[in-house]
Amino acid sequence: MCDKNSFLAGDFASAASAATDVSVAAACDPASVSASGPPDAAACDPASVSASDTPDAAAGGADTVGYIDSVYCGSGVDGAGLRCVVFYAGCNLRCPFCHNPETLYKSGEAVTAGALAARMERYKPYFRRGGVTLSGGESFLQKKFSLALAKLLRGRGIRVAFETNGQICDEELIAAGEIICDVKNQTSQDLSSYDAFFAACGRQGRVPRVTNVLVPGKNDGEEALRALARLVKKHFPQGGVRFLPFRKLCGDKYKALKIPFPYAAVRECEDEDIARANKIVSEIFSKNA
Ligand code: SF4
Repeated sequence: MCDKNSFLAGDFASAASAATDVSVAAACDPASVSASGPPDAAACDPASVSASDTPDAAAGGADTVGYIDSVYCGSGVDGAGLRCVVFYAGCNLRCPFCHNPETLYKSGEAVTAGALAARMERYKPYFRRGGVTLSGGESFLQKKFSLALAKLLRGRGIRVAFETNGQICDEELIAAGEIICDVKNQTSQDLSSYDAFFAACGRQGRVPRVTNVLVPGKNDGEEALRALARLVKKHFPQGGVRFLPFRKLCGDKYKALKIPFPYAAVRECEDEDIARANKIVSEIFSKNA
């Protein structure tokens, strides 16, 4: 979902480094995926996924078990303020530009919602206007755990945001936290699933932060950018799109996993690409029509 390489090295990060258990990443071995792990969907058709299909569709309590890849503190890009980011294990997509492939192919570490919420509470003094972001992987795949964790965090006065690919349109989850939706239009220009997801956000009174990884030659065409802007504007006229530059820093992760990086030959996104995309989107939002 988000890029772990983008974390800030600020005061929050140093506070986090004092906590020896803040990172719970396990060895990254695709062969280690077990049936007892997260609800993974290696061959999943995103169109067929709904929250009611997921194995854990009912809300749970503090003892609800979830599967996570790791926890990092000190992000400045995953929601408002400084964030602790919980990277879930398992995802329903296989994006060819994925920066966190290690979250896709292993079962992750089993944790209870109560234990994770208690760990997050230790960082509460550093959150200021920030909070905890549930990222991945895909947090909407583990509904029972996500609802339990979000409820426990809110009960501790900690703001919660879900960073999602928007392919699981679940209004209960949408209502449970702020929404950061990364639109995946690099391999398909069909935005109909996002039309439904944004409509659900609207019904829940949520204005999502919409992000989009800009990949040169894949989704940076003028018409693709206009279509994305029009869709976001249709649901959230005061909203916008935050473009994230495609980078290849994750190449080493693919090597370690011994899997090909599908976009290895694609050029990285430059500042001028982002500026051009911002200009096109701004033009759509500034028009009355
Ligand atoms: S939605 Fe795509 S980019 Fe995000 S974790 Fe899943 S495969 Fe990776």
